[in-house]
Amino acid sequence: MYSPPFEYVRASSWEEAVAALERGDDDAHVLAGGQSLVPMMMLGLAAPSLLVDVGGAGERTIERRDGALVLSALVRHIELEQSDVVREACPMLSEAVRHIGNVRVRHRGTIGGSLAHAESTAELATVAVAQRATVRVLGPRGRRTVPAAELFVTHLTTSLEPGEVLTGVEFPTAEASGSGSCFLEIARRAGDFAMVEVAATVSVDQEGRCNDVRLVVGAVADRPADVSDAAQALIGARPEQPAVAELARAVADEVEIGPSSHAGEEYRREMVAVLVERAVGAAAERAEP
Ligand SMILES: Cc1cc2nc3c(=O)[nH]c(=O)nc-3n(C[C@H](O)[C@H](O)[C@H](O)COP(=O)(O)OP(=O)(O)OC[C@H]3O[C@@H](n4cnc5c(N)ncnc54)[C@H](O)[C@@H]3O)c2cc1C
Repeated sequence: MYSPPFEYVRASSWEEAVAALERGDDDAHVLAGGQSLVPMMMLGLAAPSLLVDVGGAGERTIERRDGALVLSALVRHIELEQSDVVREACPMLSEAVRHIGNVRVRHRGTIGGSLAHAESTAELATVAVAQRATVRVLGPRGRRTVPAAELFVTHLTTSLEPGEVLTGVEFPTAEASGSGSCFLEIARRAGDFAMVEVAATVSVDQEGRCNDVRLVVGAVADRPADVSDAAQALIGARPEQPAVAELARAVADEVEIGPSSHAGEEYRREMVAVLVERAVGAAAERAEP
């Protein structure tokens, strides 16, 4: 299917992109890597009147600064995958990005596009919530920052206001020593959209007892679910069996599971239990006291 005609503007700065979006109507869209928007246009699911191409709106930068990994929105998935800086500063991001689509998609898709698109199965959304990332936003009323947990409203919907663009993402890196993380997912085939994702971070003290556990389940509902409260049962204990299996069962029994065309609720609930147990176990092994 061919898309209806649309106007095309190439922005050479984020400010120019915001100004172009302001001149457009409600159907003006940002175009980044095009890996979600273009397929939607070809399927007739999106019909923008104006495309504002932000590919040249800024540099594609990956930096460690002031206790954070700071990424420009234009950084491509493949660059996250191949960056030593990302691997050291936020290993969960390196681990998760490899699951996105295929190498062609990862060469074009951007982190800003993935977060702004807010697909409910997006790996980067789950990692952003798990790592307490913050997105940088520019709009007609100026700049602001939004915690990732407040960005995702529901499937394909964010809290970005009309005319706003996402210009960057910050992942805090100042973890206490003795912290390990793990991202796991299950999909029908490698590269398919995930059926269940789990992102776990475990911190242990000198005696090897948990002093912080963060747990986010993705791809089962309309946005990533932060279930860290349930994981507090591990605080003060060693992250070992049977405590980890009990935690996994409790999370799986309580987490909201929405509809999916890939697998039924019962199967996905069981997979939440399996992945939580494995991810918490792996994160604990990586956390050296
Ligand atoms: C075959 C295939 C398999 C895929 N598999 C996966 C997968 O397993 N997991 C996964 O997470 N994704 C998957 N994707 C999607 C891919 O990750 C996309 O790259 C990503 O979702 C969107 O990034 P993009 O840069 O391509 O954005 P685009 O497609 O250009 O834009 C997506 C949306 O975000 C908006 N947008 C883009 N950038 C900005 C910005 N800076 N500010 C504000 N709004 C913006 C656009 O207006 C549009 O609405 C797949 C895609 C394909 C084609």
